Amino acid sequence: MNELPSQYQHSAQIANYARFPVEFVRGEGMYLYDAEGTAYLDMLSGLGVNSLGHCHPQVVEAIQRQAKTLLHSSNLYWTPQAERLAGRLVEMSFADKAFFCNSGAEAVEAAIKLARAHAYNAGSAARKIVVVERAFHGRTMGALSATPQEDKQAPFAPLVSGFQTVARDDAQALTLAVDEQTCAVLLEPIQGEGGVHVFSDEFLVAAREACDRVGALLIFDEVQCGIGRTGKMFAHQHTPVEPDVLTLAKALAGGLPIGAVLAAEHCSAALKPGFHGSTFGGNPVSCAAANAVLDVIESEDLLQNATVRGAQLATALVPLGQVQGRGLMQGVTLTNRTDAREIVNKMLTEHHTLINATDDSTLRFLPPLLATPQHIDVASTGLRHALT
Ligand SMILES: *Cc1c(COP(=O)(O)O)cnc(C)c1O
Repeated sequence: MNELPSQYQHSAQIANYARFPVEFVRGEGMYLYDAEGTAYLDMLSGLGVNSLGHCHPQVVEAIQRQAKTLLHSSNLYWTPQAERLAGRLVEMSFADKAFFCNSGAEAVEAAIKLARAHAYNAGSAARKIVVVERAFHGRTMGALSATPQEDKQAPFAPLVSGFQTVARDDAQALTLAVDEQTCAVLLEPIQGEGGVHVFSDEFLVAAREACDRVGALLIFDEVQCGIGRTGKMFAHQHTPVEPDVLTLAKALAGGLPIGAVLAAEHCSAALKPGFHGSTFGGNPVSCAAANAVLDVIESEDLLQNATVRGAQLATALVPLGQVQGRGLMQGVTLTNRTDAREIVNKMLTEHHTLINATDDSTLRFLPPLLATPQHIDVASTGLRHALT
């Protein structure tokens, strides 16, 4: 059993996280290391961030080079790194324009503001945003208002008004909820925090059609499922549906803070000069890191690896319960068990493997996209032991 290192027993940090009793001092590839040098297999990628593993040499090199050249210049001026990144993201997606910020919640805030401004600029009174049960969009007040989870919202009421929740996969309810008062539908094509839930094509098509019927924007939040995690660059590329707006963050810069909103031409101009901004957004260091991440995904064919290794992981999980996910975003709801959180603990302390639980019975896996067959084997063997 791990013991909390003594210097953390009276930590000066606010206790808003229920942290595990382990301290990491170094990371390399698929592994994190504690101060004693014990290696932990990271099957969670720092919550979907370290998709190229820890301290990928090409990403580190890009950061070092950029840090010596230019750290920040503000959004009063242009820099080549942000322009290159925007061009590449637009090139590989439905979108025509990109906006950069620093986190997932900020990307969602910007998308919400873009949708309301889009209606406002058109002289429309539509302000409602339709969201889905068990969604997670972030912790800031706008993103939290779009996150219909009682335990997360209750302490912070009153929330931002104008959000309506519909049940998961209820295409009819979604269609009914989208009316003349609606400026957007916001959803994760694959829910992450809500236990890894893949929406049916039927549900996504209904969302697209409902938005088109009233002129509302369809916003996909791919903060977790985007940037190659599912075996395509963007998770919605597995489906017939394209959104108008897409939010990205977590894995985009391989470990540095970044957020992005991609938007189609017809709505991207909604955020006029002065409508929105972010002091650090699009800073050259994060953008250089993100450009390196995209380079590595391409040059090492990581979309293909995510597909194949994801299939291996899903196959290993099937005997344990109900498996949902795509590529290297997998969740398993354990059959007849409610001790998922204890299993996560056991995996950490006895098998030195990092996974997490999204509720009492669901385990979530978000391994780096460069996981090998051996890494998947070691993790699934450890899990079988932890379950017995
Ligand atoms: C993590 C997450 C967010 C919030 O991102 P932060 O960087 O923590 O603000 C928003 N949406 C989804 C789908 C997420 O997984």
